[in-house]
Amino acid sequence: MKIYNTLTKRKEEFVPITPGEVKMYVCGPTVYNLIHIGNARPMIVFDTVRRYFEHKGYKVNYVSNFTDVDDKIIKKAIEEGVDSTVISERYIAECKKDMESLNVKPATTHPQATQEICGMLDMIQELIDKGHAYAAEDGTVYFRVRSFKEYGKLSHKNLDDLEGGKRSLLVSGEAQKEDPFDFVLWKPKKDGEPYWESPWCKGRPGWHIECSVMSKKYLGEEIDIHAGGEDLVFPHHENEIAQSEAANGKTFARYWMHNAFLNIDNKKMSKSAGNFFTVRDIVAKYDPQVVRFFMLSAHYRSPLNFSDELMEAAKNGLDRIRTAAANLNFLLEKAGAGEATEEEKKLLKEAAGFAVKFDEAMDDDFNTADAIAAIFELVKFANTNAGADNSAAYIKALLEEIKELADVCGLIVEKKEEMLDEDVEALIAERQAARKAKNFARADEIRDELLERGIILEDTREGVKWKRA
Ligand SMILES: [Zn+2]
Repeated sequence: MKIYNTLTKRKEEFVPITPGEVKMYVCGPTVYNLIHIGNARPMIVFDTVRRYFEHKGYKVNYVSNFTDVDDKIIKKAIEEGVDSTVISERYIAECKKDMESLNVKPATTHPQATQEICGMLDMIQELIDKGHAYAAEDGTVYFRVRSFKEYGKLSHKNLDDLEGGKRSLLVSGEAQKEDPFDFVLWKPKKDGEPYWESPWCKGRPGWHIECSVMSKKYLGEEIDIHAGGEDLVFPHHENEIAQSEAANGKTFARYWMHNAFLNIDNKKMSKSAGNFFTVRDIVAKYDPQVVRFFMLSAHYRSPLNFSDELMEAAKNGLDRIRTAAANLNFLLEKAGAGEATEEEKKLLKEAAGFAVKFDEAMDDDFNTADAIAAIFELVKFANTNAGADNSAAYIKALLEEIKELADVCGLIVEKKEEMLDEDVEALIAERQAARKAKNFARADEIRDELLERGIILEDTREGVKWKRA
């Protein structure tokens, strides 16, 4: 399996630190508002990376943080006249709802910055002790960038070049900094802000330190993959590397993965341009599964353009897979029991070739565009080679293959349609008859089937009552 590593600027063979395990950290959102459609791209992309590792049999420890202390959160809390935790907890809950709607699995751990202050104080102290950080007179602690010789290795920036020509990239230089590049690890509180006690001043952490601390706590000093949007490469990930490697004396992450931007109608998304959309805005208009399909229709390192036209194309693409799955389900209901014939076994071997193609695409730096193309080929094959005279075993095998590959992409291809009242009543009547005939196996089967469709039965004195879950 090959992964493009931002650190080395090339595709490298994936070799896990521990065989059979993947330790990955994905920088999560700052929770001051509903997440926007740009936030959804890394969530969907790296969830798919995780699903593919799991599909290959790896055990994945997936950590993704919520930044819950930040200027924007504090500003909103002041506007609403509430504690900043009210804001952060509200938007963490909303973010989780959006993730669920997009079929993004919950992380193994979702740490929150405000719960990890102790670890941050420890790491900052360690950096001071090792000469990599210093406290200014007002209690601000800065990371001494020039003390970390490899600074710039991720973003491929050279400090001297930065200083020469690109002043705009310099971190704002207060007079108390030893060097304009130095960045904040801890800062004094301002009036009305949340704060914590520390050896340097009452205050709060800078943004970058949280990820170094949480990654170490939940995954260890060395991890396999660190990921996020490409806007995080500099300075955020560069600073994380400096902090972690200066403190731990070990390589922080082996592979650095970054997804490209999402544009709206070929323009950068911004509130001022009036093309800013939350995930909530989009899923009010489109099935969230279409959003997911759309996000995976391009390679994650290619910029992706969001437009109604492309969303329609994504909808049609997903429909093709869903229609094929629905047809197979229909055939399966009609097909009698029965083993696959020799002829069918040959066809299934051919069909398995599409799963191999799918894996090859994913093995090549998670090329989801080509992987989806392999699903389409399989769908076309199923449409051509499955009919009313095929055995149930054969139809089922084709259906399972489509479902499995779609599931690696987090796509749900079977739409469970809501049962009509009369269908529920009919099954209940059949169950009653089965019980009367002492066919309890069939009666239980019907109960389970109904439960699967969200219908709950209750046996009462007055007879069977039912409700929707
Ligand atoms: Zn981070």
